This record gives sequence, C-alpha cells and structure tokens, in this order.
Amino acid sequence: MKSIHLITKDELALDIAPIAPAKYRVQQIWDGVYKNYYQRWEEFTTLPQQLLAYLSQSYKLSTVNRIESINSSDGMTTKFLLQLFDESNIETVLIRSEDRNTICISTQVGCAVGCAFCATGAAGFHRDLTAGEIVDQVSFIAHTLAQSNQQITNIVLMGMGEPFLNYQETLQAVSIFNQSDRFDIGARRITISTIGIPDKINEFANIGKQYNLAISLHAPNDNVRKRLVPLANKYTIDEVMRAARFYVEKTNRRITYEYVLIKGINDSLDHARELGDLVQNQKCHINLIALNENEHFDGSPPEDGTIHEFIQVLLDCGITTTLRNSQGAGIQAGCGQLSGKYTK
Ligand code: SAH
Ligand code: SF4
Repeated sequence: MKSIHLITKDELALDIAPIAPAKYRVQQIWDGVYKNYYQRWEEFTTLPQQLLAYLSQSYKLSTVNRIESINSSDGMTTKFLLQLFDESNIETVLIRSEDRNTICISTQVGCAVGCAFCATGAAGFHRDLTAGEIVDQVSFIAHTLAQSNQQITNIVLMGMGEPFLNYQETLQAVSIFNQSDRFDIGARRITISTIGIPDKINEFANIGKQYNLAISLHAPNDNVRKRLVPLANKYTIDEVMRAARFYVEKTNRRITYEYVLIKGINDSLDHARELGDLVQNQKCHINLIALNENEHFDGSPPEDGTIHEFIQVLLDCGITTTLRNSQGAGIQAGCGQLSGKYTK
C-alpha cells in the first residue's frame, strides 16, 4: 500500500474524484495530513464513511509506531524509538531550543560505512528506509508537537544511516519536506549530513536547491581519516574536497565540515593547523563535536582545554568554528549514539 505522503495533491484529487467529487474534500484530507499530521485515519472525523473506508484501504498514513521515548534531564531533548513494519527499529530525536524545534531523522536501519566511533556503524547495515519511512518520522514528531501548538522548524538528516547511500529515497523525502503545500520547511532549514561520497555530492550540487550540506570529515589527512572512516580507503580527502568545492560553486552555499574530536587521535594543534590549511579560502564552517563515548569504541573526548586551543587555531586561520553541544548525550541521543535494535 502506498504512503499518502508520496502522492501529490493533484494525484489525490484525481483518485478520489469518483467517490468524492466536491473539491473541498481534497483540501480537508490535505489539511489532515499536512496541518494536523494525523497518524490514524480515524482522526479524520469530518470525512464521509465511504471516502474514509476508501482512503484507509488505499493509503498508509503512517508506517512508524512509537515503542518508547526518553527525555533528557532538562526536558529539551527527546529520543523516540520507532518500530517499522518489519519490526526493525529506528531512532528519531527532537531537540528543542528557545526558538527552534529541530528533528534529527534516520535514513537507513544501521549503516554500512562503519566509522570506528559510531554506534550506528558498529552494528552494521540492515536496510534502506523508504521515502515514506523517512517522511513518517517527521509527520510523527510534527503530530506530537502539534498537541502543544508547536511546529518543527528545522530538519537534520543526521540520525542513523548514510543519506547518500540511500540517495533517491532521501532526496524524495527532502523534497516533500520542502514543498510549500506539504511540510513547507525552507530548504535552508534542512541539512543533510554525509560521510562524503564525491559523486553523490556532485549530483546533490546539481539539483540547484538551497539545502545545507554537512560533510563529516573528522581528520585533516588521509592517514588519520583511514583510522576512523573505512570509506577513506575508497575516497581521498582530495576527492571529497573537490566535490565540496563544486557544491559551493554551484549553490553559493557555505558548507559545514563536521569533525568529531577524539583524544590522542585527531585533536593535536598540528591537526588543527593542517585542517585550517585544508579548508583555507573555502566558503565553509567547521563544526567540532567532542566524542560521545560509547561501548563500541575505545576512545575518549579531549580535555576542555585542548578543545579550546584547537578552536583557537582554526579561528586564527579565519575559519568560522563552533563546538556542537552534546545536548541529549545523557540519553544516548547524542549524534552517533543512535543504534536502535534492528529486529525484535
Ligand atoms: N552518516 C552521516 C549522517 C549520520 S552521522 C554522517 O556520518 O555524516 C551524524 C553525525 O554524528 C556525524 O557527523 C558523525 O560523525 C557524528 N557522530 C557519530 N558518532 C559519534 C560519536 N560517537 N560522538 C560524536 N559524534 C558522532
Ligand atoms: Fe554511518 Fe555516519 Fe555512523 Fe559513519 S558516522 S557509521 S557514515 S552513520
């Protein structure tokens, strides 16, 4: 059965015309899906029974079921464990701040890339999510927020999985988030994070949209990167950088490089200088993340002093640098701590 989120308004109108010719019925359904974010067909109380019966037999409204949700101690971050039709589980995180509700969504069950420090990668790859399953995470959280008259303001594809290894489904979902008669989230409020797959970065640059791109670099040279990111054996930093420059050239957008700081591995001042040289003169921003420790990786985050010296070197090179706070680390909702359980 097809997901209702994957059809356009015109397709819906055409489909229901024989049963419900009145034009306003399409809008009623559309509002239920994209304004109230209903999760069950029974919630559409204003629709006639015959139409409701047809819709519920023809379209899936949601493919995710909440198994549990855990709040951080300050109540600002909530991690949702969601179950899919085949009983595999994914995690979706809602991060609240004063002026934003950011949702961090998954694109795959597990991940084949297997970065050394990442809990998702540690368990291997199970399967790709469909565009419907990617969208349903957003619809589910939007429904939860709507109960308190709140809305999703930002979407980051930084949960489980590598979006560019599930490119088609991911891009279809992202376009549904962006469309004004659907989720209507501005392209600049949507960020895709990739481990850096050059041909997909090029393809992404060519669609000419203003989505944000984040590249998980984690090292200033190939030797260090190979210790952390197995895919560094296939694609050199040079190749990733060439694609990154193409993206900036095409979109005129600033790129973000993510860099997980790990004590004794990639956190020396020489590494900082090398990183500064690498991205010198690029329209970019570096987002440092102190390692979130997990049981799969024998490493720890650097001391605060080391982190601040590292930041200072980059700032001295004239590079905008931020340290991402590990909101949610206490509930294993920090980036890279999403692991779920693949099957029951
Ligand atoms: N596969 C994509 C998106 C998911 S990972 C990617 O790698 O970019 C999202 C972010 O979480 C990445 O920047 C990743 O490096 C980071 N991350 C993974 N494990 C982490 C850990 N243990 N501590 C801190 N950040 C981590
Ligand atoms: Fe996959 Fe990203 Fe984790 Fe690497 S960091 S294993 S690419 S999810």
